[in-house]
Amino acid sequence: MRVKQWNTVTTALTVAGVLAGVVALLSQRPQAHPASYIALALLAAAAAVHFWKFRCPACHRVLPNQNAARITHCPFCGASLE
Ligand SMILES: [Zn+2]
Repeated sequence: MRVKQWNTVTTALTVAGVLAGVVALLSQRPQAHPASYIALALLAAAAAVHFWKFRCPACHRVLPNQNAARITHCPFCGASLE
């Protein structure tokens, strides 16, 4: 899978985690709601995918998250990410 596809996975996991968190917070006892744990697991998975997979294929440095969708070349070594 390409770098940008992993970024899409990270975004999807983050959105799902936030939605699960909102569901938990809207419940009467968020700390006891299963969605709380689902939210934490999804956000932890998003962070893990980001740090393990959102890396330059050439120099293997973690890419900056800002403007991730528009990055076309590695800011560190200039390798193409397309
Ligand atoms: Zn690089």
